Amino acid sequence: MSIRRNPTRPVTIGSIIIGDGNPIAVQSMTATKTQDVDATVAQAEALHAQGAGVVRIAVDSNKDAEALAEIRRQTKANLAVDLQENFRLAELVAPHVDKIRYNPGHLYHHGRELTWQDKVKYLIDIAGTHSCAVRIGVNCGSVDPAKKEKYAADDSITPMLESALEHCELVDSLGFHNFVVSLKDSDPSKVVEVNQKFADQRPDVPLHLGVTEAGMPPEGIIKTRIAFEQLIGKGIGDTVRVSLTLPNPRKPEEIDAGLEIVSDIYAGRVRSVVRFDDTKLNIISCPSCSRVENEAFVDLAAKVKEMTAYAKDYAITIAVMGCRVNGPGETDDADLGLWCGPAKVNLKKGEQALGAFGYDEILPKLQAELDILIEQKQSS
Ligand code: SF4
Repeated sequence: MSIRRNPTRPVTIGSIIIGDGNPIAVQSMTATKTQDVDATVAQAEALHAQGAGVVRIAVDSNKDAEALAEIRRQTKANLAVDLQENFRLAELVAPHVDKIRYNPGHLYHHGRELTWQDKVKYLIDIAGTHSCAVRIGVNCGSVDPAKKEKYAADDSITPMLESALEHCELVDSLGFHNFVVSLKDSDPSKVVEVNQKFADQRPDVPLHLGVTEAGMPPEGIIKTRIAFEQLIGKGIGDTVRVSLTLPNPRKPEEIDAGLEIVSDIYAGRVRSVVRFDDTKLNIISCPSCSRVENEAFVDLAAKVKEMTAYAKDYAITIAVMGCRVNGPGETDDADLGLWCGPAKVNLKKGEQALGAFGYDEILPKLQAELDILIEQKQSS
């Protein structure tokens, strides 16, 4: 299949260059505890050996950052770190990584003495000093609140798009061009729409593609394939990640899936008739990472999938998330959401909290709420 790639500018991430017609790089993330240096190095090396262009590692504390310095010494993988709300960690991590990801939606919560523009300038200055690439990573579950307020509640695309464009403009104005953008949603059709719109306006900025919280294989791979086929087929996308909920110890399945999808698209083996069926039950779950607060998370996600199979013909979305960092926000849009703490699982109905329950109590509670939803759907 002849694909004319968007004329994106080159971005250097450690030993690779993406954009500017270079091969699409496939990324993944370690799911080990970052401070377990041996396990994290082993996972990073395994991902690198399998073909990962970039390996992301979660860093949330000074101790994680110290571990990162050692991990850097022991692996040749190109490393990326995602800064959550603690943007000041950039200073500690930048010397040890090739790419820093920040989420525009997280720059509004903490350190209100600084404007978001000040925080971006600070991050870009650090990235420039340490020759890091930057990813402006916009995520459906944590969009700039001011942007969300501006548009109708059912328009999730425009706030994401506006946020990304605004940040690109600021970063460009700082004279920094070694950056990529990502616009992720758990709904593949929204991923297609928002990335297409962004690429129409900024065809020069490389895009990292992904369907967030795609869930377990095979559904997670299918959802991702639907989005990638439509975008990569049109020349959009310079790096990709297939985010899968996988049991530990994690093997490089995300890399295998990403490489296979990209090579299928280039070979013309596309299944463009495959559409995401939004009239059916949809289980979304995060791919897990160092932040998972209880190792039972992946098992719980599998049990939720199994237990809810009886509701397969209802248009209901259930989200299962591994930690408090992204769990509370990213379950808001689901009909029923679970986010896992160390000893309890928090249950939500939309944005409403229904309580926290033990890992051995949560499934019947979820089932009771699911039955209520089904009843409501039957009587409407
Ligand atoms: Fe990691 Fe938490 Fe995101 Fe899951 S929800 S991938 S555990 S940060």
